[in-house]
Amino acid sequence: MSTPHPANRVILVVNAGSSSVKVSVYAVPDSAHDNVDIQPTLAAHGQIEGIGVAPRLMARMADGRVVADERFPVEQISDHDAAFRLIRLTLSVGLRDTPPVAIGHRVVHGGADFADAVRIDDEVIAKLEALVPLAPLHQPHNLTAIRAVRAAVPELLQVACFDTAFHAGHDPLAQLMALPYEYYERGVRRYGFHGLSYAYIARRLHQVAPDLLEGRVVVAHLGNGASLCAMRAGKSVDSTMGLTALDGMPMGTRCGSVDPGAILWLAAQGMDADAIQNMLYGQSGLKGISGVSSDMRALLASNDQRAKLAVDFYAFRAAQEIGKLAVTLGGLDALVFTAGIGANSPEVRARICAHLTGLFGVALDDAANNENCQRVSQDASGVPVLVLPTDEEGMIALSTARILRECGRLGPCP
Ligand code: ADP
Repeated sequence: MSTPHPANRVILVVNAGSSSVKVSVYAVPDSAHDNVDIQPTLAAHGQIEGIGVAPRLMARMADGRVVADERFPVEQISDHDAAFRLIRLTLSVGLRDTPPVAIGHRVVHGGADFADAVRIDDEVIAKLEALVPLAPLHQPHNLTAIRAVRAAVPELLQVACFDTAFHAGHDPLAQLMALPYEYYERGVRRYGFHGLSYAYIARRLHQVAPDLLEGRVVVAHLGNGASLCAMRAGKSVDSTMGLTALDGMPMGTRCGSVDPGAILWLAAQGMDADAIQNMLYGQSGLKGISGVSSDMRALLASNDQRAKLAVDFYAFRAAQEIGKLAVTLGGLDALVFTAGIGANSPEVRARICAHLTGLFGVALDDAANNENCQRVSQDASGVPVLVLPTDEEGMIALSTARILRECGRLGPCP
């Protein structure tokens, strides 16, 4: 397969978070063979963080060349629309202003309707709007980016790639919450998130350990957001996240599972829904317990007792969730760590795995673990433990290229 010059034909991948917009540019090769996956290659990446607070633009080409590193007055980049346009403008200079042939968006919630990436039209947008209450911190920004592009370039193909889609098709046992059944029928069910990351890890496992992928695998995506996924034969069968991205593991600032009675207690104290939402999403998790930071590196470096407690609790809860998912799977053939903490922190992996020695015979190879090697367990370990960095944006580029081809828009370059 030939790889054209990055400037021949490009896809943009947009990941709009609560206070940041990230845009990656991928070069798309000619699709000579219809039955072969198109592998776009990263050409450039730009991001603005601190939107509405202290905006900072950073952009670099894939070879590492920095094309922008600049702070802006807050009034200049006051919203996601402005941020997106500035990043696009900045990157277009480096790419000699090649117009993109498509834009792939990360969209957090696809609800019950979307089991795969989809071409965006008015009907899709309406369905995604209806899901805003289920992902209040992310979905509105995902939609802002989609609408901004639609207004500026209506004919440009846009694709929504969902964090929920990889989990579509879970057995009702994994989807139910024990509320009156009518709510399940109305969509109040456990969906699961981080699906783009898990889909990528399934592809990677297929490359590096296809035998393991065929078995019962738990993948721990431990970043600022954190969840775990149970996979059987490469398909998701359960996840620790539920209706929203709050459930399961404690995270940087999100609570993870809490007794619903605690929420009722807060409401009875006079906290309104917005205040409770702010606390559960933004003031809980590692930050809430430690009172020090939401950042795992800062907690590991701290001597504070509550920072230590937060890390201990994090490791304990991760191990508990692995046990729970192993029950769904009926056993455990491999454990994979990924995302910021999972792929980079030997200490957190070691603490989680220490809880798994008694039950699963997990035994880490300390040297391999300290080096973040691909396989970090001893040969004699009851369960192999792997470390695989994730690439959610690469996954979005892949799905977008596939839909481009399905739409007949990916012939050879003119
Ligand atoms: P996001 O969910 O925003 O994509 P990341 O996957 O980048 O987040 O993960 C961010 C988390 O990873 C932070 O808590 C950060 O401290 C942690 N992290 C990154 N590198 C390391 C490291 N070497 N050791 C421990 N934690 C790390």
